[in-house]
Parts: sequence; structure tokens; C-alpha cells
Amino acid sequence: MLFRESMREIEKDILSCKKCPLYKSRTNPVPGEGGFKKKILIVGEAPGKNEDLMGRPFVGKAGKLLDDLLAKIGLSRDDVYITNVVKCRPPNNREPNNDEINACRTYLIRQMNALNPKIIVCLGRVSSNVIAQMLGVSFSSMTKDHGRLKKSPIRPIYVYFTYHPAAALYNRVKLNELEEDFLILKKILSELLENEK
Ligand code: URA
Ligand code: SF4
Repeated sequence: MLFRESMREIEKDILSCKKCPLYKSRTNPVPGEGGFKKKILIVGEAPGKNEDLMGRPFVGKAGKLLDDLLAKIGLSRDDVYITNVVKCRPPNNREPNNDEINACRTYLIRQMNALNPKIIVCLGRVSSNVIAQMLGVSFSSMTKDHGRLKKSPIRPIYVYFTYHPAAALYNRVKLNELEEDFLILKKILSELLENEK
């Protein structure tokens, strides 16, 4: 079997990383966490206030919504590995800029290689853009591409795009769409697992 770097090594490197200026304002880096068995990778944008304080991904309001969405399709936190495009909180929750995304990209690539996911679920536009570019699939806009599954032409990985849960917290229409996208995801996952047998 090919050598795969362990996720623990990567998490350890992130905890001491100073490769971009975001390290200066963070309380804790947020490497990511979850289970490896189902090979599902979920990628958000960046840690927020609660995540920065706890050093864990998606523990605030958006995280609670994500837990609910996962539970509705029969998944728990242990069934998925959850991380973000950048591992340290941008000040005032601004979007991470290109320099920060580029500096942090190596960790995402290493995490992808360590987990060897069957599918990557991208939450929101920033994550969708970054993952689409890394895996050579097209992404034009959330409105157009949410709920869509794409197969990477360069790696045996499917990419699925949906809204960021934070965008749906105070928007009924987006919340409905996000819930529908997760129901579609449930079907996709059962088909992917079926093909494995
Ligand atoms: N939003 C994100 O994109 N990631 C988190 O970890 C929390 C909120
Ligand atoms: Fe390092 Fe990423 Fe944190 Fe920047 S955001 S300091 S690259 S872990």
C-alpha cells in the first residue's frame, strides 16, 4: 500500500504554523476533525469566532446547522472529516484573501492525500472555487452549481457543491435549498457506497 501521511502529523504541523499573517490574530488554529472510514471530506471557508476560541471546526451556530443537516441524512460527525480552506480565523470574519488561501493550500492538499476521499462536499463559494480549481472541475456560481456533483478528471474524487450553512441561518429560501442539496447528497452517497460492493 502507498504510504499516506497520517492526519495527526498534518494537524500537528498546523498547530504551529506561521506561514501567513493570520497566525498573529488567531487564538487557536483549527486543523479539522472527524472520522476517516467513510472517506467523506467536508470543506468550509475559515474558522469563525467560536471555532477560533475552541480550536475546532463548525462549533458555532453554522456548526449546529451543519450537525442537523448531517443528522437528517443519517451521518454523524464521526462519519465525515471536516476542515476549512484556511485554518486560522481571518480578523472580523472577513473572507480569506488569495495569499492566505495559497499559503494554507498545502495543508488541504495533504489532508486530501491522507484521507483519500471519495467525495468532497464544498460549503460555500470560497471552498467551491478552491476545491474546483485543485481538482480540475468547473464551478461558475453557487446559484448555478449548488446541488451538482462533478467528477474530477485528474483524481478519482467526486466534488459536490452546496451553500455555506452560515448563509442559510437567516435566509429561509437558502435553508430550503441547502436541505434539498443534502437530500440529494444522501442519494449520491448511497450510490457511491453501492458501487463499492
Ligand atoms: N464557518 C466555516 O466556514 N468554518 C467553520 O469552521 C465555522 C464556520
Ligand atoms: Fe498557517 Fe494556514 Fe494559519 Fe496561515 S491560515 S498561519 S497558512 S495554518
